[in-house]
Amino acid sequence: MFELLKTDPTSKARLGRLTSSRGAVDTPVFMPVGTQGSVKALDPRELQEMGTQIILGNTYHLHIRPGLDIIRAAGGLHRFINWTAPLLTDSGGFQVFSLAKIRKIKAHGVEFRSHLDGSPLFLGPKEAMEIQRELGSDIAMVFDECPPHDAPAKEQRLAVERTICWARECRAQPRADGQMVFGIVQGGSNAALREECARAIVALEFDGYAIGGVSVGEPEDEMMKAIEFTEPFLPAHQPRYAMGLGTPAQMVELVARGVDMFDCVLPTRIARNGTAFTARGTVSIKAGFNKADFRPIEEGCECYACRNFSRAYLRHLLNVGEILGLRMLSVHNSHLYLKVMQDIRRHLAAGTFAEFRREFVANYVPSQKVLLSRSESNDE
Ligand SMILES: [Zn+2]
Repeated sequence: MFELLKTDPTSKARLGRLTSSRGAVDTPVFMPVGTQGSVKALDPRELQEMGTQIILGNTYHLHIRPGLDIIRAAGGLHRFINWTAPLLTDSGGFQVFSLAKIRKIKAHGVEFRSHLDGSPLFLGPKEAMEIQRELGSDIAMVFDECPPHDAPAKEQRLAVERTICWARECRAQPRADGQMVFGIVQGGSNAALREECARAIVALEFDGYAIGGVSVGEPEDEMMKAIEFTEPFLPAHQPRYAMGLGTPAQMVELVARGVDMFDCVLPTRIARNGTAFTARGTVSIKAGFNKADFRPIEEGCECYACRNFSRAYLRHLLNVGEILGLRMLSVHNSHLYLKVMQDIRRHLAAGTFAEFRREFVANYVPSQKVLLSRSESNDE
């Protein structure tokens, strides 16, 4: 299901292709996040036009609203949201541990209360796999425990033990036709725990492996370390997915560390704050200096927003609260994330990734505000 087409001689970067029953996905790939069954402010036509190969849906949210009976009656999640390309669903583990305020961890899952109306719910490996089977996603994720980055060592260890136990239970559940299942490695920024968890999860033989417990409020160097501690223990012939990351420059660096798949809420989240990503960092389109700037958000960008509208007009739309402003920033930001991945794939194929990486990272000025908003919560 995964073909490793080429590896970069100067780093751990890989060019690959993941084949699902709904089509192939060229990697490294960025997956726009459709938490509630919709990539915020974007429709499937726009997503396809900008080269989206695969999107993400969320088990926890879709399970709460509209509920599984509605999605089942619609004929599965693809039909319900009218998305015909591949779709990955997360297991809900992250949300249960980050959104649900009151929870009780049991042997086979978590008792918690809905973040919406407080009603009692239970989610564990069996339930998470059953929901994802009904959703009919092309890639399902195992149910894991994701502790905060500053959790004490004892809690990190317990989370790893539970994650391994629950991965085994997930592995034994039936899946939808053609559905791949990815295991998740936890262990915080502890090298020994990461190795132990990775070895145990890989021994269960999943179709791909995710590195979880990153983008949970840790500083960037710790996040990079968590990836470096895990990657050597993941099989080369299978896809690796870093969950919930990151800025464009971080994605380039993570590709160089052997990661193939990314998802991140940042492009659409910061769009809603009136902020645009560019190849040199972020820019506030709302800022006064754009008042009479009739250039596009980014010169040379081929997205619909940059081909048609000026910064001055977009700033006006944002200032008067017109929805089109938010939509166009979401178009530009998502397009940029997808474009960075296209560029990475092109340079990997041409053997020029090292130069691309050096230049991209040198030109990109990270914004502290954006880095902080990444860790607010992975959930829009
Ligand atoms: Zn653009």
